[in-house]
Amino acid sequence: MPAKIISGMEIREIILQEIKNEVQKIEARHGVVPGLVTILVGENPASISYVALKIKTAHELGFNEVQENRPETLSEKELLDLIHQYNRDDTIHGILVQLPLPKYIDEKNIVSAIDPDKDVDGSHPVNLGRLMIGGSAVKFPPCTPAGIQEMLVRAGVPISGAEVVVVGRSNLVSKPIANMLLQKGPQANATVTVTHTATRRLADHCRRADILIVAAGVPGLIKPEWIKPGACVIDVGVNRVGEKISAKTGQKVAILKGDVDFEAAREIAGWITPVPGGVGPMTITMLMRNTLRSLKFKLGIA
Ligand code: NAP
Repeated sequence: MPAKIISGMEIREIILQEIKNEVQKIEARHGVVPGLVTILVGENPASISYVALKIKTAHELGFNEVQENRPETLSEKELLDLIHQYNRDDTIHGILVQLPLPKYIDEKNIVSAIDPDKDVDGSHPVNLGRLMIGGSAVKFPPCTPAGIQEMLVRAGVPISGAEVVVVGRSNLVSKPIANMLLQKGPQANATVTVTHTATRRLADHCRRADILIVAAGVPGLIKPEWIKPGACVIDVGVNRVGEKISAKTGQKVAILKGDVDFEAAREIAGWITPVPGGVGPMTITMLMRNTLRSLKFKLGIA
């Protein structure tokens, strides 16, 4: 039987509706809505479209959304000043600096300047430390890993006791999701292996996995015969492998492929995420949830 498709698009709609309902209740009771500022430096086309989508989603949820678009002439000092301004702004509960930043700006300095209690991307060192501790210490789980965990839970994939193999060791996705799934507690409690380019016998590790999470950025890296029958395959990879004309807009759009051969893998796996439409839509959704969480922490109702 082909694998169940875990649709990020469908789960996203359910979670966004939950967020919207909660925003309305909080506004009625406390007279405030979540405030999110997105800061974009330069004109990277992919960043522009990600930010536009974040703003649109925040707007649809009834958030107070502020957009700060700055040219590439912005100095690191000016960017730090902008962040400090929003750190002090009581109407803003989440600060999102769109990465990558232009090369002349040190991303680590910028991320570290965000108030950890407004770091809704979950990438400040304090929040990564909280994630490592786990349980109630966690404030803002990083968005893509949080989306992966949410998909597993909502699809009913057994996590406790499962063998999880993560391909990749990035700070953005792989290390956080590995850490989240190995915590002792609900929605976790797995045995986790993290693999990378120096891993010997990658195929053998993958074959052991009840849950295989792939975030390598290498199209077709995972061969169908590396997948354990019935396993859950989460494909995080987003690879531009060409261009096509969109039937909807008539414009050129990228052809996207994951790190897993989807068609072959779905005949073996028990669950699988597509690319596009899998993990991708969950990332922005989790950004919205973290921004709502930030307001709830502030109100003492989280
Ligand atoms: P990354 O910084 O691009 O690093 C890739 C990781 O994969 C590295 O740790 C690398 O190992 C490992 N790797 C690469 N080739 C490998 C191979 N042949 N065998 C084993 N390991 C291999 O990671 P990332 O930022 O997590 O991004 C990974 C992919 O996910 C990209 O395609 C990215 O576009 C996508 N992504 C998607 C979303 C989303 O919302 N859907 C969000 C973030 C990222 P080494 O450390 O040894 O080099």
